[in-house]
Amino acid sequence: MAPQKTSPRFNPRGAKGPLGKRPATTLWYGLAFLLLLGLWQMFNFTSAGRAIPYSEFKALVKNGEVSDVTIGEQTIRGELRQAPANDSKASKQFTTTRVEDPKLTEELEAKQVKYSGEAINKWLPDLLGWIIPLVLFIGIWGFFFRRMSGAEGGVMSFARSKAKIYADDEVKVRFTDVAGVDEAEDELKEIVEFLKNPKKYTNLGGRIPKGVLLVGPPGTGKTLLARAVAGEAHVPFFSMSGSEFVEMFVGVGAARIRDLFQQAEAKAPCIVFIDELDALGKARVQSALGSHEEREQTLNQLLAEMDGFDSRKGVIIMGATNRPEVLDVALLRPGRFDRQVLVDKPDVKGREAILRIHTKAVKMAGDVDLRVIAARTAGFAGADLANLVNEAALLAARTDKTAVDIRDFESAIDRLIAGLEKKRVMSTKERKIVAYHESGHAIVATVLPGLDPVHKISIVQRGFGALGYTMQLPLEDRYLMTRGDLLSQLAVLLGGRTAEEIALGEISTGAQNDLQRATDIARAMVTEFGMSDALGAINYEGQKRARFLDIPLPPERGLYGEETAQRIDAEITRILSDAHNTARRILEENRGKLETVTTRLLEIEVMEGAELRALIGVAPATASPDTVPLPAAD
Ligand code: ADP
Ligand code: MG
Ligand code: ZN
Repeated sequence: MAPQKTSPRFNPRGAKGPLGKRPATTLWYGLAFLLLLGLWQMFNFTSAGRAIPYSEFKALVKNGEVSDVTIGEQTIRGELRQAPANDSKASKQFTTTRVEDPKLTEELEAKQVKYSGEAINKWLPDLLGWIIPLVLFIGIWGFFFRRMSGAEGGVMSFARSKAKIYADDEVKVRFTDVAGVDEAEDELKEIVEFLKNPKKYTNLGGRIPKGVLLVGPPGTGKTLLARAVAGEAHVPFFSMSGSEFVEMFVGVGAARIRDLFQQAEAKAPCIVFIDELDALGKARVQSALGSHEEREQTLNQLLAEMDGFDSRKGVIIMGATNRPEVLDVALLRPGRFDRQVLVDKPDVKGREAILRIHTKAVKMAGDVDLRVIAARTAGFAGADLANLVNEAALLAARTDKTAVDIRDFESAIDRLIAGLEKKRVMSTKERKIVAYHESGHAIVATVLPGLDPVHKISIVQRGFGALGYTMQLPLEDRYLMTRGDLLSQLAVLLGGRTAEEIALGEISTGAQNDLQRATDIARAMVTEFGMSDALGAINYEGQKRARFLDIPLPPERGLYGEETAQRIDAEITRILSDAHNTARRILEENRGKLETVTTRLLEIEVMEGAELRALIGVAPATASPDTVPLPAAD
């Protein structure tokens, strides 16, 4: 512990003591002096003369060679009558370790040796024995005190000095350094515009988003994008990681948040970026350990700061997380992180663009085609690609090449894929299964009339578990669904699995979620909506949902008997097998198109609805642009 660091403990804000020196500093000097003194004493006690064994000492006494001795508590010092004969330069002084020997004085007297006892000046070791633990205790106490006092409004300003607030006045990152996340970039451009000229927006009375949350799998460039926003807007960038707020001591995190916002407000317009928001923004829960107290206080402070913050001043709060599902709902409310931007894994084109960025500074051989590398790296995120380029360059350097060639990339890819195995990078076979599956959904959804048009199909693996998805975009809000609508939807849901059956003669586990959703719909048709002819217009379920919230109530059994239950199950089975037949009929009639769409999808990974309809040969859909797309099936 360095003296300068501890002194403010005694003198808040560095006030000077009466002597012009800080008392604590004086104390440290005093201690150091005492310590030196102690060492000097010890040295003196032990280093007087030649050290000899006790037996030798006894022999010397017996031979009458000793002139006088001083008996200490632990050592005996003495002097010989004359220096040893064989070595005239050796001193006459000697010491030996004292041994319990009651007869010693008698022997000394017999040989007429002068002897005296020695009261060792023991005050210093005693004092040190007291002082060292005391100082340690004070030190430890002060350490804790300091951290806690930092929490109480920062009287001693420790929250500030401890907090690693990275304030960049000029961020060098630009949007051109980020690729493959065009949609996220587009959404963030608005924020840049606002930060560049807040007045223009506020004069018109517009409401500016307060918080923007970047959501996506690890390594997709969330942190990079946040920095790019600051770089593009030329505003200061305050960043902290969520995990840095989480300390053992209650209140420290809250103080840091307060500090962060205070500093940011003084520098507006600017960006406050909280990386890994999930570390502090986890849903508040009751725990037996009670160790969440700190995180909760920190979170509450963040919520309070965000509420009390006037975004018109030009401070935008950005957050990033790869686990949005664990976030406390309070964080996502309007006025807080009310805007979410998805930063997803890149598709082939995106991967090529990212590779282009990262190979800019790398010497490349002529045989490297980035498009080929992009095609081979399905499932890689931006960070993986950056890593890949680096690995390839290292491999080339190891073999003393002058440029990185395709073979270096190939071996780097192999190596990385082996390492990424844990992260589930899809194999070629798996990609094919997923491509058939999604094409199946998409074709059934497009061919069957009256369904929401397909907006996008993707086989880019997403961070949230899905291997691919087919997104349908509603043309208008729907409040009612007819029986026909529901039956068509069932056919779409089963379309994925059916396509696998038809094209590969085998079904995979990937359809599990589809099946669950299809079964839920079929069950609801029979037991809730009275849509089954066999059972009639009866609701067998009672009230299943809370009135205003979409929360399912606990299941109530016993509204129907055993025999009815069997008929319900039979009805569900019949509905599902009808839907399955519909899907099979459509896909068999469009067998060639299933191949075309699948092949194309494997090539480009993400397909827009328009291209899909062109491939299948149906009329284009006219969707209103502002409806929010929802994944329909995966
Ligand atoms: P995240 O915060 O999403 O986990 P990072 O922003 O920390 O990911 O990305 C780590 C590194 O990977 C970046 O510094 C950059 O070099 C590279 N990277 C990631 N995504 C991209 C991208 N979309 N474009 C270019 N480089 C990227
Ligand atoms: Mg990050
Ligand atoms: Zn599916």
